[in-house]
Amino acid sequence: MALELFNTLTRRRELFEPLEPRKAGLYTCGPTVYNYQHVGNYRTYVFEDVLVRTLKFLEYEVRRVMNITDVGHLTSQADEGEDKMEVGAAREGKTAWDIAKFYTEAFLRDCAELNILPPDILCKATDHIEEQQGLIRRLETAGYIYMISDGLYFDTSKFNGYGRLMGADHIGGLKAGARVEANPQKKNPTDFAVWKFSPKGKKRQMEWDSPWGAGFPGWHVECSAMAMKYLGETFDIHCGGVDHIPIHHTNEIAQSEGATKKVFARLWMHGEFLLMNQAKMAKSEGGFVKLSDLKERGFEPLDYRYHCFTAHYRKQLDFTWESLESSKTARRRLREAALAVKDEPLRFACADHEKAFRAALEDDLNMPGALAAVWDCVKSNVPSGSKRAILQRAENLLGLGLFKADVPSELPPELQQLLDRRAKARADKNFKEADVLRRDLEINGILVEDTKAGQKWRRR
Ligand code: AMP
Ligand code: ZN
Repeated sequence: MALELFNTLTRRRELFEPLEPRKAGLYTCGPTVYNYQHVGNYRTYVFEDVLVRTLKFLEYEVRRVMNITDVGHLTSQADEGEDKMEVGAAREGKTAWDIAKFYTEAFLRDCAELNILPPDILCKATDHIEEQQGLIRRLETAGYIYMISDGLYFDTSKFNGYGRLMGADHIGGLKAGARVEANPQKKNPTDFAVWKFSPKGKKRQMEWDSPWGAGFPGWHVECSAMAMKYLGETFDIHCGGVDHIPIHHTNEIAQSEGATKKVFARLWMHGEFLLMNQAKMAKSEGGFVKLSDLKERGFEPLDYRYHCFTAHYRKQLDFTWESLESSKTARRRLREAALAVKDEPLRFACADHEKAFRAALEDDLNMPGALAAVWDCVKSNVPSGSKRAILQRAENLLGLGLFKADVPSELPPELQQLLDRRAKARADKNFKEADVLRRDLEINGILVEDTKAGQKWRRR
């Protein structure tokens, strides 16, 4: 058995064969830090985390690079409109730099709560202006660049095979879409900016000198420049959400391969959307849910992580509060099963369940299948020590906090008092009183269970 992954570029599943044996280099497009990320964005980051953990599980040495887009991502995909960072700054009366810092920190906190492993390299676009200008100079020398009034553009007609990531059927649609907002000075509707000039007579908060005039890099340039810096001109895997296929990733390929004449990323993987009310969850659509909204409704971030595993990453997933509730219940039950065997002496993991779990991962990261294998094991009659072995191995991949018990010290003092009185009543063998107190706690949403180690409680 070996790892098979779906490659958007070839439109088929391929055996994963890295450039260097047992090593995997990955570039995953990161957030634009002008606002909070929504749980739709986090679906993509969780999928990428599963990829990283799967590679590690299969004993690859992983190097993962993620960028932070803190300049140059404009409100329109056609290189028009305002910089999202400056929009955020105007909205909140802060500098673009403060906005970037604030939302980068918020993003990293959310990722930690979702148990998304930190990337090996986290790099900001604004820290890599020199590298981006270097790439633009290479493209200029190679003859791909022309200048118009608002910036330097990449001539897509000069790049053989432009748009091959989308497939031939889509390129017509892209051209038509781009035409709606097209800058009439562009030579082709699909041409894109690699360097934008600061507007005349206006000083931008984020701008840099360049041989062509003061301004800022186009959004796509940052990912090409930083991926090559940290992973080399050719590397193994590039990921993002499906919305990046037609423009962002298509343009990354054109400018990277235009400059180096080498294959850029060998395998392209894209996560499907999280939907809300039958549409892509998006900041611009208004109806979006943040991680903090889930917590306010009594969900833990890891309940949402479990929810992401209920659909294959290449299938759309609906977000509803009812379905999240089922994922919460399922995660709680799995956690109870893990805590029940936590202290059992370890035994050999049962080969069948372990094989099924691994086979699901190798089957293009089939997480519903991997979860099913874990559930089969939990429900089977294999010895508890073997269940513990499987659950521990699975938890390294799932990252669902299965072996973490509730922290009792979080109870408010008045409820803690009830709990203490109940412990005393039981010690005094006053079971009637203990039952009354159990009901009092239950009314307050606290369920009490008596174990050999004493009372245990959890929130309903
Ligand atoms: P952005 O901050 O808009 O650049 O998006 C960050 C990541 O989230 C990108 O990889 C997007 O493709 C992805 N993304 C955006 N919206 C969704 C969604 N509704 N479901 C899943 N992924 C998304
Ligand atoms: Zn990118």
